[in-house]
Amino acid sequence: MKTEPGNVPLDAGQLAAPWARVRAKLRAEVGEVEYRNWLRQMVLRGVEGEMVHISLPSRFLRDWVRDHYGDRLKTLCQPEWPSAKRVEFRVVADTGADTAAQGESGLAESLSATPRTPALQASAARAADPARESEWMAPLDPRLTFDSFVVGKPNEFAHACARRVAERPASAGFNPLFLYGGVGLGKTHLMHSIAWAIRAAHPEKPVAYMSAEKFMYRFIGALRGGNTMEFKTQLRSVDILMIDDLQFLIGKDNTQEEFFHTFNALVDAGKQIVVSADKSPNDLSGIEDRLRTRLGGGIVADLHATTYELRLSILQAKVAQAGVEVPVKVLELLAHKIASNVRDLEGALNRLVAHAKLFSRPLTLENVPDVLSDLLRTHEKRITIDDIQRKVAEHYSIRMTDMFSARRARAVARPRQVAMYLAKQLTSRSLPEIGRRFGNRDHTTVMHAVSRIQQLMAEDRTLAEDVTLLRRMLET
Ligand code: ADP
Ligand code: MG
Repeated sequence: MKTEPGNVPLDAGQLAAPWARVRAKLRAEVGEVEYRNWLRQMVLRGVEGEMVHISLPSRFLRDWVRDHYGDRLKTLCQPEWPSAKRVEFRVVADTGADTAAQGESGLAESLSATPRTPALQASAARAADPARESEWMAPLDPRLTFDSFVVGKPNEFAHACARRVAERPASAGFNPLFLYGGVGLGKTHLMHSIAWAIRAAHPEKPVAYMSAEKFMYRFIGALRGGNTMEFKTQLRSVDILMIDDLQFLIGKDNTQEEFFHTFNALVDAGKQIVVSADKSPNDLSGIEDRLRTRLGGGIVADLHATTYELRLSILQAKVAQAGVEVPVKVLELLAHKIASNVRDLEGALNRLVAHAKLFSRPLTLENVPDVLSDLLRTHEKRITIDDIQRKVAEHYSIRMTDMFSARRARAVARPRQVAMYLAKQLTSRSLPEIGRRFGNRDHTTVMHAVSRIQQLMAEDRTLAEDVTLLRRMLET
């Protein structure tokens, strides 16, 4: 190591403690799994003047760590070595020393006081321990349980399937469970709920939950680190594997292939798989056919777009949970105006509550628009009755004028009802206003259309899908 004049390199004793602190902070920030995948193999080579030298065993890891954690490392090093202004990453291939042996302290071997053998034994013991499942488990959000999941028409089927899987994992007909639906409709919530329930009822069953993205990073990490066997063994030792947002694997052929094999191995061994995606297996283009077939081979459950009623019950539940008082009128306004998804709805409610607390003034219908002006505006502006009529007419190949006409033939009356339903769900227009825009119809006609479509959506899958599709098209 070159020494610049006046800069004496620090020795091992001076480096160990600060380096341990830097690593511990980073570990706490990024979480155990990410840390193990990418950062554990960092070795501190020395600190000279303004430069901190860190090595990694491969170019891939080096680039990854530099690009993703470089800035953070620099910031974390600064309080430890005030002179340090830059971090240099280099590749130092494994010199026969087990990386895990260095890994725990992360000091270059010459600097490390820890004898190698015990560390190696410890790492071997860890690898053989089935309870390592916790490492594979992305942290579960304690708020996302069945208790806090509000059930309504649009999600009752998915919810029932999730409950069933949680009660009796891997039973025939329910494996895999494939949950799909648009953003913010509760897929992740249901998956966490399943994991919590299984954990409580069967603490001995290892459950692994992770996003497809994490799955890919871990797989690539294992490939590069030369420990794919460990990766495979660990994954195959779980009883329940849950992969969230599977659409992420589209076009990632190697990872998809690996997932397919893991999937088969687990299902064949009688283990439960739960997968979520933004589309049904059939509509997930870019997924291999054999995987598609297997994904659809259990039970497929759709989370439909929320209805006004569901949004209102969700708000009521959240308010009760948080122990805050919000006037019903305010909740109704939110449920009415923020129709996109539950995440936005929650965000709006949180903002209102925070605001009320901050300025210690009660929430009233009058001050809501001030606090949520941006949200309300976008949700109001985005979709007009005209947009809805146009899209619906296009979708069903009828004329725009049929939206206003008095024709009652099913082929035009049904699409018209769909349009009225969407107008009620997606705009803030009142029933009489909507009626006027549909050829001066009475508000009771609109009311009837709304309840008719709601009822039909529960019975008729095609119609439900049409409506969901139209809604997504209008909302984006
Ligand atoms: P997705 O994974 O489908 O994008 P999430 O599960 O992350 O959606 O849900 C978004 C937010 O909305 C979460 O905070 C979740 O708790 C909440 N949420 C969604 N559906 C419900 C529901 N039915 N009851 C209560 N909260 C819900
Ligand atoms: Mg999600």
